[in-house]
Order: sequence, then C-alpha cells, then structure tokens
Amino acid sequence: MKSPKNRKSTKRKPSRKPSWAEFRHRFIDCTWFDRDRVKTFRAMREFWKRAPAEVLRKLPAVSVVAPSGYLLGAVTSFGRGDRAFLYLAPQLEKASQAEAIWTVAHEFSHVALRHHAPYKGRLPSLSTLRAHARADEKAADALATEWGFVRPKGPRRQ
Ligand SMILES: [Zn+2]
Repeated sequence: MKSPKNRKSTKRKPSRKPSWAEFRHRFIDCTWFDRDRVKTFRAMREFWKRAPAEVLRKLPAVSVVAPSGYLLGAVTSFGRGDRAFLYLAPQLEKASQAEAIWTVAHEFSHVALRHHAPYKGRLPSLSTLRAHARADEKAADALATEWGFVRPKGPRRQ
C-alpha cells in the first residue's frame, strides 16, 4: 500500500507572479525601450503590478517598441534575435538629407553585421546588452564609413 505522502497532490498551485525584475528583463531590457520613455516605463510597472499573475505568466513572446522621440533610427534584436527590426523615425523627415542618408546606411550596417542576433536564442544580461550596444555602434559607424557614407557632425541619434 502506498503511503499518502507519496501521492501527488491534485490541488492546483496558485500561479507565481513573475517578479518585477523578471518582467522588466523580458519586456523592457530585452525589447526596445529607450530610457527617456519615463511615463511609459511607469505605465509598464503599473501594468505589472495590477495584471493577474496568470496573465503575466502566460504572455507569449512580444516585441515592446518604445523608442525615444529623439532617435532617428535603430536596429533591434527583440530578445532572442531570430529576426531584425529596422526602425526609421518620422523625425528623419525634419532632419537634413545628409543625416537621413547616414541614418539609413548606419542602420543597414547593423543588419549586415548581424547585430540583431548575437545571443544565440537566449536572453542576454543587462551588462552584456550594454557592452554590446557600445561596441556595435562603433562597428556600424566603421562599416557605413567603409561603404563611403559620411557621418554628419552632431550627437548620435541612431
Ligand atoms: Zn546604431
């Protein structure tokens, strides 16, 4: 006769709510969420606080897009990096033609260098993301320059 303590419980365990750190890593750090999106960041935190645990646990892979209003263009990996997403901001229409040309060339450099897929199917740590971001910008500038494009003076916006 089996002892009752060896029997599997048929009670349903309440589903654990992902921590803010887990939610933030998956939907903010590993998606596209620029730092000056302060209100949107707070809204994300409110959503995490108020949404039912079950909903948060069962969310499918999702690409959150919250670019800075300052940004002209970007290429992003969306976490696991199986697909590139190239963004060209509406603000490009107000930039100089030279800046628009450079932005397009710079973003295609990121794609050509496969910067959207460096993590082999895993979510990278925040420090890895930041280290890659700095190195990737230099490499993309170098390749676009090699292709014959000229970076306009002024702050980086790509
Ligand atoms: Zn860039």
